[in-house]
Amino acid sequence: MRLLEQRILRDGKVRPGGVLKVDGFLNHQMDVELFRLLAQQWHEAFRADNVTKILTIEASGIGLACIAAQEFGCPVLFAKKTKTKNIDGAVYTTRVESFTHGTVYDVIVAKEYLLPTDRVLLIDDFLANGAALEGLCDLVRQAGATLVGAGIAVEKCFQPGGARLRGQGLRIESLARIKSMSEDSLAFMD
Ligand code: 5GP
Repeated sequence: MRLLEQRILRDGKVRPGGVLKVDGFLNHQMDVELFRLLAQQWHEAFRADNVTKILTIEASGIGLACIAAQEFGCPVLFAKKTKTKNIDGAVYTTRVESFTHGTVYDVIVAKEYLLPTDRVLLIDDFLANGAALEGLCDLVRQAGATLVGAGIAVEKCFQPGGARLRGQGLRIESLARIKSMSEDSLAFMD
C-alpha cells in the first residue's frame, strides 16, 4: 500500500458530511518529511514538463506546494481569498465554491506573477467536487500560461471532480485515491 494511504488509515478520521479529517499530519499539524516524500512523487511524474511555477490555493495547499517547489526548483504562487474588488485590473479573479464550508468566495492572483510564458503545475491537498482545481485552471487560462497538470494529495474518487477534470484533458496525479468512506470504513482504489 502507498505511503499516504497508510497514513490516512492510521491517523485520518471520517466526519459526518463526507469530510476526511487529516489534521494530525496535513491540515493543521504538518508532517514535513511526509510532504517531501509526496513532493518527490509529483516530481517523478512531472519532471519532464519544465514546470516554472507551482500554483495552489489558500490555505491548506500552501505547505505541500512549498515542499513541491523545492523539488522543482521554482516559485510557489497561491491564489488568495479576497473580498476586495479588482479595481485597477492588476489581478486575475475567479469564483470558487468551498466544499468544506459550503460558501462561495473570490480568489485572485496578481497578473505580474502569472505570465503567459509560465508552465504551471497545480498542487492541492484534496480533490472532491473539483471547484478549487477548476478555479485554479481558470486563472491559468486567463493568464495565457501553459497548464502542465495537477498534483493532488488525496482524491475522493466517489465525488465527481476528478472524472470531470480528466475528461476536460487535465492530467491529475493523485497520491491517495479513496474509493469509498464512512465513519467506520475507508477503501482505496486499486
Ligand atoms: P473541491 O473544490 O474539489 O470540492 O474541494 C477541494 C478543497 O476542499 C480542498 O482544497 C480542501 O481544502 C477541501 N476538502 C474537500 N474535501 C475535503 C475532505 O474530505 N477533507 C478535508 N480536510 N478537506 C477537504
